[in-house]
Amino acid sequence: MASVKFENVTKRFGGFTATEGLDFEVGDGEFVCLLGPSGCGKTTTLRMMAGLETPSEGKVWIGERDVTRVHPKDRGISMVFQDYALYPHMALADNIAYPLKVRGQPRPERHAEAQRVADVLQIGHLLDRMPAQISGGQQQRTSLARALVTPSDVYLFDEPLSNLDAKLRLDARGFLNHLQRDMGITAVYVTHDQAEAMALATRIAVMDRGRIVQYAPPLEIYRRPATTFVANFVGNPPMNLIEAEARIEGGQLHLQAPGLHLAPLPVPAALATRAPGRLTLGVRPEHLALAAPGAANRIEGRLFANENMGPETLVTVTRTEGEARLTARIFTDEAPRLSGAVAFGFEARHLHLFDAEGLRV
Ligand code: ATP
Repeated sequence: MASVKFENVTKRFGGFTATEGLDFEVGDGEFVCLLGPSGCGKTTTLRMMAGLETPSEGKVWIGERDVTRVHPKDRGISMVFQDYALYPHMALADNIAYPLKVRGQPRPERHAEAQRVADVLQIGHLLDRMPAQISGGQQQRTSLARALVTPSDVYLFDEPLSNLDAKLRLDARGFLNHLQRDMGITAVYVTHDQAEAMALATRIAVMDRGRIVQYAPPLEIYRRPATTFVANFVGNPPMNLIEAEARIEGGQLHLQAPGLHLAPLPVPAALATRAPGRLTLGVRPEHLALAAPGAANRIEGRLFANENMGPETLVTVTRTEGEARLTARIFTDEAPRLSGAVAFGFEARHLHLFDAEGLRV
């Protein structure tokens, strides 16, 4: 196993900058997810780790070695792609053991190794079958087993679950989590699915337009998003963001927005020396509850949608005539029939504040 380090890595394609100044480290035994919307540079970053792209500037390290210009096959990495093509004419055992055959390992040994990895992935009983005789999810696990059977310092995954339907995807996610716990591999995993990143990662690197905007453990990303972009990208439904006029008066922060009733807040340290101007107030849907009219901290609106999801219900209101909507996640047992005016209450400690540039204050 080994660590991976990016030192100020920029990648340009012609005049277009795909990644800029990437500076981060994946520790030995970590499972890091690169998370972000389409086109933000996740795959380019992974391909530079694999050696399939060369940085325009900066260095890539694997363990103690500068591998910036080292050929992919000499980097000690193993990569799993979206497309998990298996050899159709080979039984699963031979498919999984194939990388070991290429390395010249004798048949009994390589099959014992294939069995061991297949057992971890719970496909050990299928090794005599041909790929056409197993389900899509089992094929997916076979391709994972084939990547994992090769001893590697670092495993790279590019959206390996994206071709699976929702149920298989959940199953496979559970297996990957189990695998990480069981084998302690060092892995970098690209996804645009925030739930997948939350479930799998030891740390998440959230990317936006070629840069890493936050690199932290999943719960920290969730609880203390560094920017409005992160707040909006992680969480489902995403954090409610409310534009507010801010002023400091009597040593307290006063916020004003349509439908918002909020007792004055302590002034955050970051605002002590500058005029707050406009701020964005963030509150997660699970931190809103139905409130009695007149509650000290509340946001009022008119019912827009009431979606029953089983154990919980998503209640959405519009605060103004325009687009300003707000969603609360409440236990269905606590959701009465609603109509017309609705007020959500919240605790001040659950509020997030961002400045005009979208940075957390
Ligand atoms: P997705 O989730 O859609 O796969 P991504 O975050 O993985 O997106 P990348 O594939 O890394 O994004 O691409 C980042 C940007 O670089 C995109 O705008 C893409 O069009 C551009 N890009 C990637 N490869 C090349 C290339 N070989 N030549 C020119 N531009 C490229």
